[in-house]
Amino acid sequence: MTVANGRSLLAIPGPTNIPDRVLQAMIRPAEEIYSGPMVSLTDSLLGDLQRIFRTRGRTYIYAANGHGGWEAAISNVLSRGDKVLVLASGRFAIGWGQMAAFMGADVEVMDGSWRASIDPAAVEERLKRDTAHSIKAILMVQIDTASGVVNDVQAVRRAIDAAGHPALFMVDGVASLGCMPFEMDAWGIDVAMSASQKGMMTPPGLAFVAANDKAHKAHETADMKTLYWDWTARQGKEHYMKYCGTPPEHLLFALRAALDMILEEGLEAVWKRHALLAAATHAAIGKWAEGQVISCNVTDPAQRACSVTPVLVNGADSEAIAAYTQKICGVTLGSAIGELSGRAFRIAHMGHVNAPMVLGSLSAIEMALKALGIPHGEGGVTAAVATLAEGAGLPFGPAVHEVPENDLAAPTAPV
Ligand SMILES: *Cc1c(COP(=O)(O)O)cnc(C)c1O
Repeated sequence: MTVANGRSLLAIPGPTNIPDRVLQAMIRPAEEIYSGPMVSLTDSLLGDLQRIFRTRGRTYIYAANGHGGWEAAISNVLSRGDKVLVLASGRFAIGWGQMAAFMGADVEVMDGSWRASIDPAAVEERLKRDTAHSIKAILMVQIDTASGVVNDVQAVRRAIDAAGHPALFMVDGVASLGCMPFEMDAWGIDVAMSASQKGMMTPPGLAFVAANDKAHKAHETADMKTLYWDWTARQGKEHYMKYCGTPPEHLLFALRAALDMILEEGLEAVWKRHALLAAATHAAIGKWAEGQVISCNVTDPAQRACSVTPVLVNGADSEAIAAYTQKICGVTLGSAIGELSGRAFRIAHMGHVNAPMVLGSLSAIEMALKALGIPHGEGGVTAAVATLAEGAGLPFGPAVHEVPENDLAAPTAPV
């Protein structure tokens, strides 16, 4: 039999769970596109995206997925033949670099590990060798969704500065924006991009790009520009041109609701929630790992992403685990991609997720391990619960009320 009926859980790293409030925001008629409410909606979204990217730079919204955001970022600042340095830590920076190569850039990939963060010292060393400053842009992801690695953006910025290199610093925050600290201005990011369907809790179909003055300076002479992505065309007064055509209205209504939810919770609180839910996930895997089959792909806990965790399955069938959780429990896990394909599954814990959702995913996995006879240490879910109990606050005061001894000993006489 199965126990899958009931609300199913989507634990894949994008698209993620869409809050009911965001879904409901889309159930409404379309609006006129040249004036009125749509214009002020766009203004509010562009302004709030600055708050999320933490920048005073300009923000842009595209009717596109993350790949579109990649193309938007590249086409606005680069010219054909420009050299681009890609800092690999899994799959996604490489994908961005492939896009740049297709568009005419001369792409060099700095190899990285699938199990550890980008090494800032290696970046500094490579940039110091580029004495002619032929590298025009450096591309990296903050969280690589395939490997589960989180990179230290600030440390890479320091490496670029230590090398005295003028290249544009371009960062992909698709799997990290709205999940963990992202400080575009404080960290010296020139171009940042993200998309709607992961930490931002909105249906797929919107890409976000933020760019500072240095990026806009490069934009003036870039020759990869095309009208659809072009920043200049989107800067004018005309609302229609801010989307180079009809605005993706209902996605914008959804984004408004999602941004309201993030800002009401508080961006820092959102980051903390993700950190705690990730810690609980890692605690469970730590217990299961005692059976010598299951382990976290990223070995150093400090280099593990707070939004997605790839779990290695060594000597058992990772796909059988995912098939079990889906068919028997109604929990859809992410399949592994790239180098981890066929030997891992991914647990997403990003966006609209809370303790019961993450515990639900973890419990379904633990159930699968038991049912399928896969060796694992006992008590994974218990360890996750303990992590959550320790980390979560006590909004209603102390859990156990201090009762004065007198009250217990001598009930007051009825008046
Ligand atoms: C999902 C993802 C992308 C690609 O986004 P799409 O919307 O699928 O094009 C890019 N970068 C990272 C880090 C991602 O996680």
